[in-house]
Amino acid sequence: MEAILSSDVLVLNRLYQPIHITSARRAFVQLYEGVARAIDHDWRTFDFDSWSALSEATRAQEGETRLGTTRSRLKVPRVIVLVGYEMLPKSRVRFSRANIYARDGSRCQYCGRKFPRSELNLDHVVPRSRGGLTTWENVVCSCIKCNLKKGGRTPEEAGLRLMKKPVRPRWTPAFRAPARFYEEWRPFLTVADMAYWNTELLP
Ligand SMILES: [Zn+2]
Repeated sequence: MEAILSSDVLVLNRLYQPIHITSARRAFVQLYEGVARAIDHDWRTFDFDSWSALSEATRAQEGETRLGTTRSRLKVPRVIVLVGYEMLPKSRVRFSRANIYARDGSRCQYCGRKFPRSELNLDHVVPRSRGGLTTWENVVCSCIKCNLKKGGRTPEEAGLRLMKKPVRPRWTPAFRAPARFYEEWRPFLTVADMAYWNTELLP
């Protein structure tokens, strides 16, 4: 029971942006208080009463967690959406070397190979000499070989191609990394979000 109540639930704001991860206990309180609604796999939203009714009307699916003992077995929602106000993520993901490595999974974004962090550089996609900014969208991991090959040129000029378009992860470092990922979270997370946290989860 305790393990179920402390398991992770993804919290979205009213714009369906992930804002943090909470415990199932807190999610139930927010659902009960009417501050949040639960979302099912068909993206339908439920208040506490309709969620309870749904729990009673359906049998537990494989991999689903339920709370309670005999009669009323309340489904644990894996995603809830706040209804009251547009809470925006509290702070942005810090733009740091470690977080860029995390976002890119320690892979050179030109050749796609994985390297120890000591063998990676940060590369400005559009070089600074051409007005390229030091931002999430213009800085990627690069191995030393690709970095040398690229020099002060754009990827096109150097005959290199980016593995993927660099973007800012939406998560903030203030939020604890989840213990595991739930399939139900996937539709609400960007590739950058997933890569960021997946990498952080690795030792
Ligand atoms: Zn490389």
